[in-house]
Amino acid sequence: MREKFIEFRNVSFRYGEEQPWVLENVSFEIYQDEWVAIIGHNGSGKSTIAKLMNGLLYPQEGEILINGMPVNDEHVWEIRKQVGMVFQNPDNQFVGTTVQDDVAFGMENRGVPREEMVTRIDEVLKAVRMEDYRLTEPHRLSGGQKQRVAIASVLAIQPAVLILDEATAMLDPKGRKEIMRTVSEIQAKNEISLITITHDLQEVVQAERVIVMNSGKVWEEATPREVFAKKDELRKIGLDVPYIALLADELKRNGLEISTEPLN
Ligand code: ADP
Repeated sequence: MREKFIEFRNVSFRYGEEQPWVLENVSFEIYQDEWVAIIGHNGSGKSTIAKLMNGLLYPQEGEILINGMPVNDEHVWEIRKQVGMVFQNPDNQFVGTTVQDDVAFGMENRGVPREEMVTRIDEVLKAVRMEDYRLTEPHRLSGGQKQRVAIASVLAIQPAVLILDEATAMLDPKGRKEIMRTVSEIQAKNEISLITITHDLQEVVQAERVIVMNSGKVWEEATPREVFAKKDELRKIGLDVPYIALLADELKRNGLEISTEPLN
């Protein structure tokens, strides 16, 4: 049976005492090896959830457990080893002068032995299909390539959870598809939990489970198919069901079943 890896118990959060609550009474669980998409309109609280998951922020109310550890000063460093995050803008994430330096950086900070580092650089650059770019300067890469290197740098630390916070938002549809394919392969192969955070319903199609946020509250937790079936209610909270899901629905009513997964 799958182990619970992330647990939010009645979590409420605000950015200051005078500020409004941006998360209210949020509870959910994420299991090991699971792919969960968190979706919601801009400002619904998704990024705040991501930051709470690796201790960049602490909740004022409720409790968060990561691999059984409460998010607090005592456990935050261990939690950050286990929870890897990639953000929207890859340019803010580079520290090395070459791709391989960049991937090495996080490992150096964690005292990974040199030989082990060399092996891991090979592995992670292969996993994101960037093995031919190890000596390239990061600023010469395309947006999609930069994002793949950012993912490789996080994978090198061997996290148990990979969180992508709008990590494909700056890419064109082709780049987006490539990243999603890469991370789904990595998730399946390395048996890590994958959490993709997005405001684009198109990106939740392949996830096993979807958590829909609306104004700081969990609005729904279900499979993509169950979520898409609520298309009218979704529109009211600022989310448009992708055309392909509507088409699949219409065809099903006429006795024809098609897959809504993206074609390779
Ligand atoms: P999302 O990722 O869904 O767009 P966020 O978690 O970024 O949502 O934001 C939720 C709410 O918190 C928004 O109303 C946003 O304006 C507010 N917020 C986010 N970051 C800060 C901050 N550093 N200080 C004050 N308010 C913030």
